[in-house]
Amino acid sequence: MTSTQERPGVASAHDIAQMNRDYTMFSWSVQGASTPMVMTGGKGSHFYDGAGQSWLDFSSQLINLNVGHQHPRMLEAIKKQVDQLCFAGPSFATEPRGLLGKKLAEVTGLAKAFFTLGGSEANENAIKMARLVTGRDKIITRYRSYHGATMGSMSASGDPRRWPVEPGVPGVVRVFDPYCYRCPFGKTPDSCGRECVSHIEEVIQMEGPESIAAILVEGITGSNGLIVPPDDYYPKLRALCDKYGILLITDEVMSGFGRTGKWVATQHWGIKPDIITCAKGLTSGYMPLGAVIVNGRVADYFETHMLWGGLTYSGHPVSCAAGVENLAIYEEEDIFARVDDLGAHLAARLEAMKAKYACVGDVRYKGLFSVLELVKDKATKEPLAPFNGTSPEMNALAGHIKSKQVYAYSRFNFLWVCPPLVITKEELDAGLDVYEEGLAKVDALLGAGVAA
Ligand code: PMP
Repeated sequence: MTSTQERPGVASAHDIAQMNRDYTMFSWSVQGASTPMVMTGGKGSHFYDGAGQSWLDFSSQLINLNVGHQHPRMLEAIKKQVDQLCFAGPSFATEPRGLLGKKLAEVTGLAKAFFTLGGSEANENAIKMARLVTGRDKIITRYRSYHGATMGSMSASGDPRRWPVEPGVPGVVRVFDPYCYRCPFGKTPDSCGRECVSHIEEVIQMEGPESIAAILVEGITGSNGLIVPPDDYYPKLRALCDKYGILLITDEVMSGFGRTGKWVATQHWGIKPDIITCAKGLTSGYMPLGAVIVNGRVADYFETHMLWGGLTYSGHPVSCAAGVENLAIYEEEDIFARVDDLGAHLAARLEAMKAKYACVGDVRYKGLFSVLELVKDKATKEPLAPFNGTSPEMNALAGHIKSKQVYAYSRFNFLWVCPPLVITKEELDAGLDVYEEGLAKVDALLGAGVAA
């Protein structure tokens, strides 16, 4: 977190930031208030800013840089494909596209992949396919979900990020989440009858089972608080879909490709969805790529029916080559075993933090996909910042972590730990130590609040 690196290029860091601010627009920001950090390079779990400072990347950028910054094998594979063939139109067959499709079928147990440029577009196409295959209109999604920023995917999301585009694309019906820490049905593990599933069945009946094309859920909810479902949730959801002929679509954009120690998160619970959408860890962000991976039923339908969709860059050969190499790295570098080991260590440290700090209400984790849920009071579970808001205490926590050059993702009252899967144990501990300093500060702030 303290080493430095020479900054390459001609423009000064100041000029780069200024040019970006003056001539480009930043996502999810009020432009006048955006203060972008300049990034000039990276290696493994670290990246370098415009001042040559090294940052520990505790969020793998947008929880996508699974094999870390500037992995030599990724760079080599991309360069090789660039020399061979930079572009082929989407109706051409290429070697990397075929290889990647074959590998995705093998690791998911599904049949075929349709390639997209990212996660939002993958969800757009999954929804479209589900409607075409079933001849039904409605899609059930969950309130605490994010499926993307394009119109359809944003409409399908439950996250408040959808509010500005409401009423959005019609036909979305939302249900509550398997959020045991704050069970929407007021249940505790002792009294629970999996109301989070039976309520979905009631919604299906009220909406008319013949109108529901698909249930779309994140494999493990990511940016809405990392909600790991109870063990029988997915088997019950799968059975519900089968009972009513509804397709189960799992959005593994964030939770897929080793993040939880498996190819996709639902493999932890032994069920197979009908459609999997993915992106992020598919290429670890080295090239833009997403995929809609479909089972035999969906693939067969499109053998004799038109697939109404596709963009100029669908199946881009350089993106597919990056995907092929990335999947090979997961296997050949034994990344998932590494995630299991580091994940166990991370889990132990998170549980210790929950026991030690008054402000840690809950910790949730699977592999290197984890979150701390922060509270003002453990007994009442009052959030440290309100839903869709922030607070001085959360700002103090995020500010402390940033001051130590650890790059972390926080939102509302959640603080994530999602480092690159190649992180070392020492790096992981160093970042967690910084988190602990911040948590101690929050406890002190809360204590001061009580005394005053
Ligand atoms: N689904 C999930 C679960 C996501 O986390 C994201 C992005 N954070 C998306 C979809 C959208 O993916 P993209 O930004 O690649 O379009």
